[in-house]
Amino acid sequence: MDTLVLGHREVRALLPMAECVDVMAAAFATLARGDAVLPLRSATALPDRRGFLGLMPSYLGEPRALGVKVVTVFPGNLGTPYESHQGAILLFETENGRLLAVVDAGTVTEIRTAAVSGLATRLLARPDASTLAILGSGTQAGVHLEAMRAVRPIREVRVWSRTEAHGRAFAARHGVSFAPTAREAVEGADIVCTVTGAQAPILEGEWLAPGAHVNAVGASVPPYRELDSAAVARSRLFVDRRESALNEAEDVRVPIREGRIGEDHIAGELGDLLLGRVAGRSGPHEITLFKSLGLAVEDLAAAHHVYAQARARGAGSSLEITGERHG
Ligand code: NDP
Repeated sequence: MDTLVLGHREVRALLPMAECVDVMAAAFATLARGDAVLPLRSATALPDRRGFLGLMPSYLGEPRALGVKVVTVFPGNLGTPYESHQGAILLFETENGRLLAVVDAGTVTEIRTAAVSGLATRLLARPDASTLAILGSGTQAGVHLEAMRAVRPIREVRVWSRTEAHGRAFAARHGVSFAPTAREAVEGADIVCTVTGAQAPILEGEWLAPGAHVNAVGASVPPYRELDSAAVARSRLFVDRRESALNEAEDVRVPIREGRIGEDHIAGELGDLLLGRVAGRSGPHEITLFKSLGLAVEDLAAAHHVYAQARARGAGSSLEITGERHG
């Protein structure tokens, strides 16, 4: 059988946000049951640090899938025609190791990242959370708006961005409010999403309203950092994966180094919440925080879903890499 090539258009059509939230829930439950293999990702940085090449291999037992995301991350691409994350996910089957599909990694990353925040919000935010603050106005800001609307009855949205013109343009494009400062966006918000390329805190804990839920998404590799230590110390903290958070999240590592929190401040992983192993929000006044790093199993589960949908609907084009012996 040929290998399918699934580009931006197919991924967008076959991975609707609400569906992707459920796909992520299934992947996190599998991970929590121990039915996944997930090494820490490796990154090869350019000597001038303009960008890096990330390698994210993984295996999932349910749905059964094997694959790797190969992705470049070039934060300076903002303002160019190119996304900050580009590459491919190679999806293999586990019987004979055949290459099933090559899937657009940028689009999968875009959707699955917001869907995981959607899942965390569904599990942790107050059910009546309706005011949303978004810090950042790039690709992730747009999909996070979509994801938050998919899981909570959002009525008011305030966006702040480092470059005022970008924040205003985002607000106009999406019909939401522009906030001149991050503080004005955050104060009184029920849900806060940080989706920036900041390397120093842009969110201060003292701004957070009682009962708020925060999705901290932008800083997924050192030296990036978005939250001050007070924001983390004040919150009941959940992560996608403990090992990744302790190795890759400056939002968590800095307050640990400062002695503000211990490693035991991490209440659990999303999968623990899904399996009922840890309690979520304890009441309407608690502040909850989800620190997202992005895991290879998210990409794998999303690519598997897109592939299955494409086969069922006859979508995508094929590539002749059959893996058959020729001699
Ligand atoms: P974009 O390039 O589309 O947007 C970047 C945003 O970050 C812009 O709004 C920009 O603001 C803002 N920004 C950049 N530098 C700074 C800074 N020093 N201080 C404050 N704001 C800054 O990127 P994406 O939306 O695709 O990604 C956003 C972040 O999320 C990135 O850091 C990315 O690595 C991370 N990410 C995390 C994932 C995860 O799984 N956790 C997955 C995918 C991405 P402005 O334009 O106003 O200057």
